[in-house]
Amino acid sequence: MCGIFGYTGNKLAAPLLVGGLELLEYRGYDSAGIAVINGTGKISLTRKAGGTDSVARLSAAVHELSPGGSLGIAHTRWATHGEVAERNAHPHVGRSGNVAVVHNGIVENYIDLKSELIDSGFTFSSETDSEVIAHLVSRETENGSCLSEAVRSAMRRVEGAAAIVATSVSEPEKLVAARLGNAGGIVIGSANGSHMLASDIVALLPHTNRVCYLESGQVATITPKSCDVTDLDGEPQQIDFVTSSRSADQAARGQFPHFMAKEIAEQPDSITAAMRQRVDLAQNTIDVPEFDLTPEQASAIDRAVFIGMGTSLHTGMHGASTLERLAQVPSYAENASEFRYRHPVVNENTLVVSVTQSGETADTLAAMELARDSGSKLVTAVEAEGTQATRLADITLPVRCGQEIGVAATKTMVATMITLTLMGARLAALRGVMSRETESEIAKALASLPSLAGTVLERDEPVKKIAQDLTAYRHLLYLGRGTQFPIAMEGALKMKEIAYIHAEGYAAGEMKHGVNALISAEMPTVALAPRDEMFEKMVSNVNEVKSRGGHVIAVTTDGDDVMESIADDVLYVPQTHPLLQPILNVIPMQMLAYHTAVALGMDPDKPRNLAKTVTVE
Ligand code: GLU
Repeated sequence: MCGIFGYTGNKLAAPLLVGGLELLEYRGYDSAGIAVINGTGKISLTRKAGGTDSVARLSAAVHELSPGGSLGIAHTRWATHGEVAERNAHPHVGRSGNVAVVHNGIVENYIDLKSELIDSGFTFSSETDSEVIAHLVSRETENGSCLSEAVRSAMRRVEGAAAIVATSVSEPEKLVAARLGNAGGIVIGSANGSHMLASDIVALLPHTNRVCYLESGQVATITPKSCDVTDLDGEPQQIDFVTSSRSADQAARGQFPHFMAKEIAEQPDSITAAMRQRVDLAQNTIDVPEFDLTPEQASAIDRAVFIGMGTSLHTGMHGASTLERLAQVPSYAENASEFRYRHPVVNENTLVVSVTQSGETADTLAAMELARDSGSKLVTAVEAEGTQATRLADITLPVRCGQEIGVAATKTMVATMITLTLMGARLAALRGVMSRETESEIAKALASLPSLAGTVLERDEPVKKIAQDLTAYRHLLYLGRGTQFPIAMEGALKMKEIAYIHAEGYAAGEMKHGVNALISAEMPTVALAPRDEMFEKMVSNVNEVKSRGGHVIAVTTDGDDVMESIADDVLYVPQTHPLLQPILNVIPMQMLAYHTAVALGMDPDKPRNLAKTVTVE
């Protein structure tokens, strides 16, 4: 999750920009840069690339150069398009050197935009997707638009999730910020005679606690004394500054009522974070540098076992089915507390993959020790690095979505699903069983996944309405098949954890073997039925529930018109690559549980009897 900071006021901008980036360093980055409009009305650019000391090196350089000027923008980059290099670090400057832009996110249609710009005479000095935005804005200003209109018109051309801030030498007091979808937030702060903005309120709090948040589709034009917001078409929008409590807890939650809501909303960013430095979206290639097996070691693996507890077990189930499909290695997932005590047969040809968000889960650690003693190759996917799991494992795959505070796991699951999918693809490549075409298909689908996840989040109202209905029930059934089975399990778990409604997650094929006896008007069924190879089977399951008097909430993909005719309620999720579809589908499951818990008056962040880190059996 890269960071943005901007300042317009009456103080020297450069030191404030560097200070802002320092407070955003926790988000992770590989390069850093600032642009200030200096005393001579020119853009002065300082950029450093290549690691987590880039902000420190930037700071030293800025100290030495001490660029004048009281307006500027700053960025910490986590590369998605183009290598980690100074020329790819942000800010990027438009053709005539008149505008500078920083960008978080992915421009999905950058290839088309880039060739259009090249055809009309623009030259590119980076491999980033972001540079197209700088040139689009530049072109508009060259044609006479003011910076605000130039940004609006550029953003109308951009597909994907993006947060940007632009400056122009022709309007040296003005910052223009825009948000499209969910590529990280933009929060604007108002202080005496100045405005500043950042990806996270923590970077603003040293200066002010008067803040407002930019929504998707909004463009803010900020000067030292004013802040005007419009939509992408220039229609003015109401924006209210609020006084944020300085309590660390509230500050960290930003505009969200609960950490769980914040963490659900962060998932487009979590997806990108897990992909960074692993997927090259310019070349459509996948690499997982941490997964450093030799082709010989990869070929010697004859089985993969994923171990975890709770949400991590469901994540492992998805990881196992993806790995088996891509790398053609027999794979399964198992509850770590069962695995550790049942004398499992594992050996040096077994790849054991542990999933533990905290890295301290007692049962998972014990299962890992057992696997290590049996000589298995041990991989762990964790959010919290430096923990016990990373010390035990041969290979640690950080999932990089940032600390999760809500007890019920959300963004760690999605980031881990991405990480394990990439590991599966990497293992497949090392074993020589994945075609270049498949790799490229997955990479391309990953490029649009953050914005599709944003679309899922925008469809909050229908979920809220169903959640309201669910408060009347004490029992729920979740059904799924194939890749959706772990998602059914996860949907049920979330509902149990935070709304305290008894919920069962089942493989839909099991219904006739017992569960059908429970179907009645008292127990609604959530049926995960995207348009995939199992769709027809799910249609039969939904019909079976309906014919026994059950109420069905179907979760299907955009464009389907079958579920509407048989289910009582339908939630639509955008379609993506079949291996990634569960990553989108789990999001409405989280939203449903969250809204149900809130409607029932529960605190979803602190469910009763549960702890975030389970260090005992
Ligand atoms: N896609 C852009 C790049 O690769 C922005 C990455 C980011 O969000 O830091 O430069």
